[in-house]
Amino acid sequence: MRADRRTVSWALGPRAVARALCAAVVVCALLGAGPAAAVSPPAQPATRLTSLTGLTSLPAADAQTVDYSSGPYADRLCPTTPASGVACSLGRSLLATTQGAGHRVRAVEAGATCERQAGLWVCFDVRSFLVQRGGTTYGDTFLSPDGQRDLGADLVAHESEHVRQWRLFGPDFSLMYLAEGVDPCGNYFEQQAGLVAGGYSCG
Ligand SMILES: [Zn+2]
Repeated sequence: MRADRRTVSWALGPRAVARALCAAVVVCALLGAGPAAAVSPPAQPATRLTSLTGLTSLPAADAQTVDYSSGPYADRLCPTTPASGVACSLGRSLLATTQGAGHRVRAVEAGATCERQAGLWVCFDVRSFLVQRGGTTYGDTFLSPDGQRDLGADLVAHESEHVRQWRLFGPDFSLMYLAEGVDPCGNYFEQQAGLVAGGYSCG
């Protein structure tokens, strides 16, 4: 398992970042919006589906799409009108992509290892106050304090939903997430990402 991991320091140069940005734009243009960030505890080992164009893959065991348009933050989504909605969606998705890329660059510079697992950018051995509990997703990248390992399909799906939340709600997502409180069991965004998949036990 470990042998076929792709370490991706090669993917952190300007050309690769540009490539990632282009991919995000294309995906958003095709799908309307993309995957988004938050906190998770350790996960169980599981199979990993590697994808070179992973922005398009959501390898969840439970792959239904969460609909935020009827939730408490519906008014914080991009407008649905074609004119402003498309530009808003593309802008937010691009911001999530560049935010994640920036975190990866800083993480690698500090000694972390970043790779893709089933379409999700993951950096291991990240030492930062920004990383809470079992890890934190910023933009399109999951930052983990743990050593390199297979996250497992459930945790990848959980963090990919956080990526999607970043893309849908934009930079304000961080404030919205914090406003939901530090208890993951009562946090709307954790609930939508899947508490069990995220490794939380909520009685
Ligand atoms: Zn989470």
